[in-house]
Amino acid sequence: YFIASDQFTETKVQLTGEDAHHAARVMRMKAGDKFIVSDGEARTAIAEVTEASSALVEADIIELLSTDSEPLWSVTIAQSLPKGDKMELVIQKGTEIGAYAFAPFQSERMIVQYDAKKEAKRLERWSKIAKEAAEQSHRNRVPDIEQVRSWRELMQSIERYDLALFCYEREGDAAHGKGIRTAVQEWKRRSERSMEQASSANLLLIVGPEGGFTEREAAEAESAGAVLVGLGKRILRTETAGIVGLTCLLYESGEMG
Ligand code: SAM
Repeated sequence: YFIASDQFTETKVQLTGEDAHHAARVMRMKAGDKFIVSDGEARTAIAEVTEASSALVEADIIELLSTDSEPLWSVTIAQSLPKGDKMELVIQKGTEIGAYAFAPFQSERMIVQYDAKKEAKRLERWSKIAKEAAEQSHRNRVPDIEQVRSWRELMQSIERYDLALFCYEREGDAAHGKGIRTAVQEWKRRSERSMEQASSANLLLIVGPEGGFTEREAAEAESAGAVLVGLGKRILRTETAGIVGLTCLLYESGEMG
């Protein structure tokens, strides 16, 4: 299964770069072999190899498939930059589950030192992880990896979403706070959305760093329009919270049955 966004026409598809290498060298594909390919958006097809080398694999589209594995709701995980390679886990698992995009951001209690110089390299690596995870989970599109946002940029972006949820462990106790289900139900009622109308919803799920959010940050997010939500009574690790929140949201969208 490959995702070839740039080289997909009505009748032909090309695999280049690492995809070509993987197909020709690792999978040993040759003329006549078939594979499934997506254009990175809505089209998926069966393609038949006409020529294969480790630099370029050319194939004819022989059948367009109608498989659409994309979720009903577009959920962007806004993740405060975590330590080490935790962001990779968030991207890999979030992509499998069905995240629409990942928006890393900076916050007060972040443990890592943000280094703008390293950003391009990291974004490149994260995009590669997203593509591999999208291919392995048979997604139609590869989630976007957005540039690292400052806290202010994150706050300003909230109004662009139909619903922004701010994961705050102080809301974790159902007796005092609100969970994802309640937040989603209230939002649907507020916007008088039926399940069908909500099918193109753009949602933002904001997750704090290892040190959590400050009270000031929670208050700012709330006044910027986000809804504070809990993910249950237990404190989840920063890399777990987004994956859990995303799963709950897609479940609430009805797409999991
Ligand atoms: N110290 C642990 C770590 O190193 O990962 C836990 C960090 S927890 C404070 C990180 C973030 O996950 C929080 O800022 C919040 O966004 C989210 N989170 C974790 N558990 C949560 C819960 N029960 N309810 C809501 N959000 C939660």
